[in-house]
Amino acid sequence: MRKVSTRVSGTKASSKKTTPAPSPAKANAARLAKLGIRHDFDLVLHLPLRYEDETRLTPIAEAAPGIPVQVEGTVKSTEIVYRPRRQLLSRIADSSGELVLRFFNFYGSQAKALASGATVRAFGEVRTGFFGGEMAHPRFRVLREQAPLPSALTPIYPTTAGLSQAALRRSIEGALARVQLDDTLPPEMSGRLGLCGFREAVETLHHPRPGADPVSFRDSSAPAWRRMKFDELLAQQLSMRKHYRERKSRAAPVLARKGPHTAALIAGLPFRLTPAQRRSWEDIERDLAQPHPMHRLLQGDVGSGKTVVAVLAALRAVENGMQAAVMAPTEILAEQHFRKFSEWLAPLGVELAWLSGGQTRKEREAGRTAIASGKAKVALGTHALFQDRVAFRALGLAVVDEQHRFGVSQRLALRTKGADLHQLMMSATPIPRTLSMSYFADLDVSVIDELPPGRTPVVTKLFTDSRRAQVVKRIRDACMAGGQAYWVCPLIEESEQLQLQTALDTYAALSAELPELRVGLIHGRLKGAEKTRTMAEFKAGRIQVLVGTTVIEVGVDVPNASLMAIEHAERFGLAQLHQLRGRVGRGAVESVCVLLYQNPLGETARRRMSVIFENSDGFAIAREDLLLRGPGEFLGARQSGAPLLRFADLEQDADLLEAARTAAETLLSERPELAQRHLERWLGGRAHFLGA
Ligand code: ADP
Ligand code: MG
Repeated sequence: MRKVSTRVSGTKASSKKTTPAPSPAKANAARLAKLGIRHDFDLVLHLPLRYEDETRLTPIAEAAPGIPVQVEGTVKSTEIVYRPRRQLLSRIADSSGELVLRFFNFYGSQAKALASGATVRAFGEVRTGFFGGEMAHPRFRVLREQAPLPSALTPIYPTTAGLSQAALRRSIEGALARVQLDDTLPPEMSGRLGLCGFREAVETLHHPRPGADPVSFRDSSAPAWRRMKFDELLAQQLSMRKHYRERKSRAAPVLARKGPHTAALIAGLPFRLTPAQRRSWEDIERDLAQPHPMHRLLQGDVGSGKTVVAVLAALRAVENGMQAAVMAPTEILAEQHFRKFSEWLAPLGVELAWLSGGQTRKEREAGRTAIASGKAKVALGTHALFQDRVAFRALGLAVVDEQHRFGVSQRLALRTKGADLHQLMMSATPIPRTLSMSYFADLDVSVIDELPPGRTPVVTKLFTDSRRAQVVKRIRDACMAGGQAYWVCPLIEESEQLQLQTALDTYAALSAELPELRVGLIHGRLKGAEKTRTMAEFKAGRIQVLVGTTVIEVGVDVPNASLMAIEHAERFGLAQLHQLRGRVGRGAVESVCVLLYQNPLGETARRRMSVIFENSDGFAIAREDLLLRGPGEFLGARQSGAPLLRFADLEQDADLLEAARTAAETLLSERPELAQRHLERWLGGRAHFLGA
């Protein structure tokens, strides 16, 4: 990577020990670093955020509101007024009309420059203000002599405090002069895809030609933009597919023997596997029989029946003399898996070990010993429990449940750990196709796209919280008739303490309102053993109403519970609401999920409420969620501060994504040196979240 990219001038100076005051170059480098720019190529790829059309002057009278225009006029008057707050107002006029330039933050020198009689050129959006047409905070220039209009669009770059457009432009020009802009696509490939050359694209975007169509630059449909978007997507695909290929060249135990356990399990199930479950199991079976590690993502909506597929995979490992580890994100879920697995494995004589935070040290030691000796064939627990050294005798398969809880960046970071293991990742958050093709392109994917038959769809109701009492009454009636209910406490993201307090308050209130019922409480701060006891009592029907925080979001399976109320539903995300709602509708009776919300609803919250009300299909909800939140939030990548794709938009540029995927395969097979060079350019300087 050093070969291709010269370091940005200034960063080197930082290694010198004796520099008392930061030099301008060093300060510049620090600001560039803030933008993720470390190498010359990063500057080349630092592309404009937008373009402004300063090639034309618009007569003041013709400036339409809301559209950026450039006007030129003579200053009639300039004054500083103090009401409603300190501001500078400068009235200018051309032969067609008058316009006020309004500034709230200004220097005295600017006020002076705008003296009566001066000629000023201003760029901005006109709107109708108190004094008629006005421009707030325009970019402006006082013209001392005849100044010709620029002949091309002006690029405006994303920048950071203290780094002016001019300084940034100078740095970019310097880099453009230093680097090689040779193409990383073979000409026949760019020709076939109808893409322009790399050099042409870079030069055009930094220096649009005179007469270039401003619209295509603005909406980034210009050929130069398409080339850069393609290159960005290609870098992502190359990185992901390289990992994919590397994995296929590593060794893993061959789990090909079809022993008695899997067949016996399938024969003994109280139901028939759905066709989608069967297809997924066949995918897994095929992978496990290969001498390379499987990394397969099993996607399926809540309740689609992923667990039994995981049990089959674990049994296949056991049939081949190896062990399986099953990891869940929460204690509650791990415990549930333990029960479910025990129910299915015990009749087959397969021993399990169970590691829990709530166990005594002695119990945990016993579990560990059983795992180390190989007596326990399948081990279950939370991820945390597997993090501190658990020694397996012969671990062949790791199953990671509810993998979507961890975010893509975490997954990518862990990609090389357990490199010689088969891994089955399960996710109940359906991943829209474009995301799956990009950020999950290093995995193989199976989708369970149907629910087991005989489910009654959950009826969703939207109530304002003024109807809370009615909901409580309904829960009383249902529970008196033998039913059970969940009551989900409002989410308080800002404070775990407040969240806990709300849960306690809600629990107290409902206990008082429903004296004839047993109300239970479950939240993240409870001790493991207490959680276990409460869940067991709820499962056994001794607790009728379970008050909980979002800890019940994941995986909880109590078919008799057919009612759910979610308080302050407007605070939850779509994926969360969908997961929560998926806790009911698991039995034969019709289930109801009441979303209590508080008015007034914001725009996004209103959208979320209507999406969840109108849709029950997880994929449809996920697509809406992606549109509402964007890929960064959706993938849990935003917290890590990692930028996603900068230029390409997965939905809008889906055609380019398809093309990049094919191109990546071709390059990796036929032109690996070009693939390498392409990756170095795009991933060279930054810790970029393209999947590197
Ligand atoms: P999830 O995909 O959300 O993890 P689970 O594996 O917990 O779903 O399955 C939900 C419920 O459906 C469980 O009670 C499970 O036993 C049941 N189930 C799974 N597969 C089938 C099937 N093919 N037919 C009927 N019920 C099934
Ligand atoms: Mg599950």
